[in-house]
Amino acid sequence: MLTYDASIKYAEEKHYCPHCKQLLSCCETPPFHIGDGLGWGCDVMFICLNDECHVFVKGWEHIDVEYGHSGSYRYMLLPGEKKGGMLMVGNADAFTGSIIDPEALKKQNIRYQNEKKALAQLDSCVEEKNVAPALLLVKDEAAGLPGRLRACELLIELNDLSCIDPIRNHIFKKNDVERSANMAIKEILKAQYKKECPYCAEIIKQQAKVCMHCNKELS
Ligand SMILES: [Zn+2]
Ligand SMILES: [Zn+2]
Repeated sequence: MLTYDASIKYAEEKHYCPHCKQLLSCCETPPFHIGDGLGWGCDVMFICLNDECHVFVKGWEHIDVEYGHSGSYRYMLLPGEKKGGMLMVGNADAFTGSIIDPEALKKQNIRYQNEKKALAQLDSCVEEKNVAPALLLVKDEAAGLPGRLRACELLIELNDLSCIDPIRNHIFKKNDVERSANMAIKEILKAQYKKECPYCAEIIKQQAKVCMHCNKELS
């Protein structure tokens, strides 16, 4: 696995195709070499993904004539090398899914750092009455499950009504977390003698007969 720093370093290198002069895309290498079963010996390769590049345009006919199957070539350069080579591809989409995007990588890294920071803050968040780290983890769909479930439990201890709206407005992808978060809301409302108005969703007193926000009568 390529480290974050190495990925960013490669992804920000600029190499150009000698055939069409277009910028090469930094792609993750496939786990094996299609030709001989050996590894590439590196984690990334720079590939010309320009569909108008004449290497790619002419390759179809060449492969058809030479090998009798469908495919073409892309110009490819390995890191640290000056001279590139030809990479056989089965279709135009090959490698387009493995482009390393430095902006996306940076975003992923920021998310990961925030998750780590929030996890470290969980131990003291109740004492410090700091709902932010628990809320961040509950809402971070890419964060680890144990941390998110623990954050849901801590929300109950934090007993802070301000966490309800952000959770209600969040679309959960994991059922376990959604269930625990809903449970936390239920406990917080109960502890504070509150309820959510079924009509306008505002938080009101448990014993209210009429909602002070929407004036609807409550049964
Ligand atoms: Zn090219
Ligand atoms: Zn209401």
